Amino acid sequence: MTVQETLAQLVAIDSVSSRSNAAIAGYLVDRCQSMGLEVKRLPYTDAFGIEKVNILAVAGTELSDTPKVELALVGHTDTVPYDPNWKEALALTERDGKLFGRGACDTKGFIAATLSAMEALDLGQLVRPLALIFTADEEIGLIGAKHMAEARALSMRFAIVGEPTSLRPMRAGKGYCLAEVSVKGREAHSAYPALGSSAVMGAARLITRIETIAGQLKSDQHPAFDPPFTTLNVGLIHGGTAKNVIAGECKFTLEWRPIPGQGPEKFLQLLSEVVEAEKKSDPGLAFEVDAARTDGGYETSPDSRLVNLLEQVSGHTAGTVAFGTEAAQMTALGAEAVVMGPGDIRVAHRTGEYVPVDELERCVDILKDSIRSLCLNG
Ligand SMILES: [Zn+2]
Repeated sequence: MTVQETLAQLVAIDSVSSRSNAAIAGYLVDRCQSMGLEVKRLPYTDAFGIEKVNILAVAGTELSDTPKVELALVGHTDTVPYDPNWKEALALTERDGKLFGRGACDTKGFIAATLSAMEALDLGQLVRPLALIFTADEEIGLIGAKHMAEARALSMRFAIVGEPTSLRPMRAGKGYCLAEVSVKGREAHSAYPALGSSAVMGAARLITRIETIAGQLKSDQHPAFDPPFTTLNVGLIHGGTAKNVIAGECKFTLEWRPIPGQGPEKFLQLLSEVVEAEKKSDPGLAFEVDAARTDGGYETSPDSRLVNLLEQVSGHTAGTVAFGTEAAQMTALGAEAVVMGPGDIRVAHRTGEYVPVDELERCVDILKDSIRSLCLNG
């Protein structure tokens, strides 16, 4: 089967994160088994009671003990939702050298390339073991990969994590963190401010202090990134009930992307200090911080063998990404991780997502060369 045919079959299986990924997982189990891999399903139940499955397939080692592999190829099976009016979402369509469909580049293209590369090699010649990992729920918080990391399902020396990077190897990535901050005050008629405590005013003062923290964080520089520091955003704010009521409640959403090496807790610590300061300045206000996500970044040395190998076979110098990926979880499993895949992240997550045919085919060759170099040659 060609890589395009495989991609068409993967795209045809609806695997939006809100659904069970059992169908696409079943397809991948069949494909892995038919090339002689040992396969394990790692199911879990998501927060909505829906069954999700991570897949671990290995060659050149046993699954019975915790396998230790030289190289893992990692792709997520879930996709973001699609507009029901987008006719090509589940029917891969080729036009102008591009293949359109939901997940075409994020990341079913990489998964298709992985299967094609594996099928083209003589796995009987493996001298070092290899794993394929297909995860669930990446798009809603790397949840499948976190389950795998917690279960310590395997350990690995190198990992290639498939995300659309136009085939450029990305050796480091920022983390991704989210917190909901709620401020509670006391409602009163706005003609008598002394009777109330305005949660909106309190939130505004707190956000001003947070802006100062954002400035402080700029001094911790990581020159491999653009911008070279932890960024911070207050993307949502909601408060108050009417123009003439002192606001009793205000909530805002904070997002920050820590550079690798700076723990997600660093900002949380600075935040709790300014919350304390704000509490002192207005004892009528209560503050609550709910950190829903604190995913750290990852970094693999520019001298890593995998980085050098992928630079050589892809023809691109290594870069960095500012979005969250499963590379951090693979790093937790021992990997020197690199993120790389066909397609452009800027066309992912939107109607008209596509992967260029030539990049998809190039990806098969890059993965074949990588497997040969790391696992087939003595
Ligand atoms: Zn993705």
